[in-house]
Amino acid sequence: MSSVQLLRGTMLISQEKLTNFTTKIFTAAGSTEAVATEVAEHLVTANLKGHDSHGVGMIPTYVRNIKVGNLQPDAHAEVIRDNGAVLLIDGKMGFGQVVGHEATDIALERVKDTGIVAVGVRNCHHLGRIGSYGEQCGLAGFVSVHFVNVVGHAPQVSPYGGRERRMTTNPFCCVVPREGEMPIVLDMATSAIALGKVRVAHMKGELVPDGVLVDHEGLPTNDPSVMYEEPLGAMGPFGKHKGYGLAVMCELLGGALAGEWTAQPGNARENTVVNHMLMFVLDPNAFGGVERFNSEVTDMVNYLRSTTPAKNFDRVRIPGEPEQESMAQRCVNGIPIDDNSWAGIVTAAQTAGLSSDDIAGLTAD
Ligand code: NAD
Repeated sequence: MSSVQLLRGTMLISQEKLTNFTTKIFTAAGSTEAVATEVAEHLVTANLKGHDSHGVGMIPTYVRNIKVGNLQPDAHAEVIRDNGAVLLIDGKMGFGQVVGHEATDIALERVKDTGIVAVGVRNCHHLGRIGSYGEQCGLAGFVSVHFVNVVGHAPQVSPYGGRERRMTTNPFCCVVPREGEMPIVLDMATSAIALGKVRVAHMKGELVPDGVLVDHEGLPTNDPSVMYEEPLGAMGPFGKHKGYGLAVMCELLGGALAGEWTAQPGNARENTVVNHMLMFVLDPNAFGGVERFNSEVTDMVNYLRSTTPAKNFDRVRIPGEPEQESMAQRCVNGIPIDDNSWAGIVTAAQTAGLSSDDIAGLTAD
């Protein structure tokens, strides 16, 4: 394919070109080549996996936060408490992608001795796609569970049964390794819809699906303007009281325990994005026969996949498969980026210090 094409307001750009351009933006903004490459690869992988809300569209936010001092472009993970199977790591407001990867490396090294490890990761700028750290564990043969909260800005999600916003999109992730195959990856926000999708609907004058937003009275609404215009409404949690309950646990385990910083109003809200994560990593070998575990996982996955598809469905998938399908398709066809997002990225590249000629050279065919 040609690396950049215009396609009805959406361009297609190759993984290589987008990764290189993104790396150059972050080196211009003050990161080392190694840090910039790591962040660029994480963001572009999110796009490849179909999660554009956590891909290169985040570049303007990251560059802005570097410029105002909310994101330290070369900070690394620091172990601040080591109790054997329990570790506490401070991200010093560095790129979450770098701190999260380093913290997971530390957990994977430790779990070989302890069989289970609980790692608190605090004070990271946006961790991006949490599944990335789960996949790191799963590909190394370990199970992982991640509870994450999101602070540093005003809440966006109301509690089940409530009107006002009290939390944000608090992601949860759980990963199970598979022998010789990609791990099973459940990786999700606990809000019923991503804020990025609400913004797009608002800009297009479209309605959002049922059951994802509430108005200022806490009543269901399909009108995305409740997220932007007074009287303000809120996003709801997924799955009513159950999703809300999981979001609360992300807030309390990721936020109160690991980060000591929840969304309650006594804490700072400085128009930035801070993630705290409590991560458990488990060695299947510590539970007995890993062979039996692997064969049970395989048999159960096959049993699930053998389900007759419901009407209007092509087949039953396991968590993580939609991302693999997106990746296979986008690696070949390129990554779609809408014109508005691209304009924001180019402006951020200029703010970071790249000249118009640099940008033209990095993005030309
Ligand atoms: P999503 O709703 O697209 O997918 C959620 C999960 O469901 C995934 O594991 C996916 O594989 C699985 N899934 C989807 N369709 C499926 C099907 N048909 N059958 C079986 N499984 C299926 O994801 P989301 O909730 O929009 O989250 C997107 C990303 O946003 C995640 O990577 C998450 O970590 C990230 N996120 C990050 C933050 C942060 O602060 N860093 C906050 C919120 C979300």
